Amino acid sequence: MPVADYLVTIGLEVHCQIKTRTKMFCGCETSFADDVNVHTCPVCLGLPGALPVLNEAAIELTILTGMLLGCRTPEKVVWDRKNYFYPDMPKGYQITQLDLPLCVGGEVPLYDHNYPKDVQKKIQRPGKRVRLNRIHLEEDVAKSTHLANSTLIDFNRAGTPLMEIVTEADLESAEEAFSYLKSLQQILVAGGVSDADMEKGQMRCDVNISVRKHEEDPLGTKIELKNMNSTSAVRRAIHYEVARQCEVLDEGGQLVQSTRRWDDALGETQEMRTKEDAHDYRYFPDPDLLPVLTGDYVDKVRSLVPELPHEKGERFQSEFGLTAYDASVITSDIELVGYFEKAVESTRAGGKKVANWLINNLLGLLNEKGVEFESMPIDPVQLGSLLNLIEDGMVSNSQARELLGELWNDPDQDVQGLAKEMGFEPADVGEIDQLIDQVIEQNPDKVSEIQAGNEKLVNFLTGQVMKASGGKANPKIVTEELRKRLLS
Ligand code: ZN
Ligand code: MN
Repeated sequence: MPVADYLVTIGLEVHCQIKTRTKMFCGCETSFADDVNVHTCPVCLGLPGALPVLNEAAIELTILTGMLLGCRTPEKVVWDRKNYFYPDMPKGYQITQLDLPLCVGGEVPLYDHNYPKDVQKKIQRPGKRVRLNRIHLEEDVAKSTHLANSTLIDFNRAGTPLMEIVTEADLESAEEAFSYLKSLQQILVAGGVSDADMEKGQMRCDVNISVRKHEEDPLGTKIELKNMNSTSAVRRAIHYEVARQCEVLDEGGQLVQSTRRWDDALGETQEMRTKEDAHDYRYFPDPDLLPVLTGDYVDKVRSLVPELPHEKGERFQSEFGLTAYDASVITSDIELVGYFEKAVESTRAGGKKVANWLINNLLGLLNEKGVEFESMPIDPVQLGSLLNLIEDGMVSNSQARELLGELWNDPDQDVQGLAKEMGFEPADVGEIDQLIDQVIEQNPDKVSEIQAGNEKLVNFLTGQVMKASGGKANPKIVTEELRKRLLS
């Protein structure tokens, strides 16, 4: 039976570092890329007798994440010890939350623009939302680097506040998992709770996968892929693992509940351990930490909930008349949103035109020149001034595009001054009037068609006037003038 005939069920557990200045249970700084083992103390080294002190900022940011995703926060949460023996956690247990986590329920919207480019046209469930089971707060462990005969351990990461965001088994394909990770990332960044950069290990992901033949069958044997650290690798790994599981079943074999790792170089998953040697973590409440009553934190955080990308997108559509596509392009990147909003503030042209110029011209130029958005030479206020020139009839659209090209090369120039310098001054009103007369005279048949009700032909006449003016006339004004003369 081909892979396509199996039903795929996927659940994700995402570990995500929270953006706090200090660690979860001590005052050491959180850091990335500093010298190894410089941000340590008896607490995060797990020395005997050291006592943990809660980081309130981490609790607040986790509750904020829950609010962003529509979770509920229980009135009381507790801390548990998850016991295991490994050098990345010398005290012998990780402090985490088992039965009473900070956030329960909620959901993550899968933004359509976050699906891989090659499936954009065939998204199976546009607008899908993935239910969350819970978000709990715990401490990150030290970072191990395995060499041929030894292992290096860096404790800078040990004790960094870590959220574990757990979905229900709602995902049905590798592409949905891909969009989930990208969408979650965008929401966390927009909320300011995490930088969620997978390349820096700030976000890591475990993937639970099973397959079955029919909707009414019980879920298949669950197999876990551990510690994935790239969105595209997650996609590749799921495709591989689904095909592997289907093949085993097709050949009459049985799957064993197990944990596997993805080898990106070989393009295959490999078994790490099966259920028989699964850990017994012997969870129990941590006697060093009191339960937390969440009420005050919830009240404090409520006012910090920002507008999320999809909410912004909906507002841009209703407020400015953007298309759903344009809104999704702009809200896909927090930098782009900031640019757009600033440009809108600085022009009379309105959001719709800003969006058109941003997407069709500026992003086009960036693409053409292979420049990242962060290094865009033209600032949003300049774009605003440029659009004002068009609004005021000082330059035509095509002249404005030329201006944009000049500005790109020399971004410090004053937009209005540059327009003058380039000879982009509005054509003489009398001259345009004459051209309009001329075009009306030369096209009696079109004129009578327009007057008989075919108003679309006005655009044709506008085109003729534009041509006659050598592109100098402002098409908006010409059209208005033509309508006034022929239709009123
Ligand atoms: Zn410390
Ligand atoms: Mn965890």
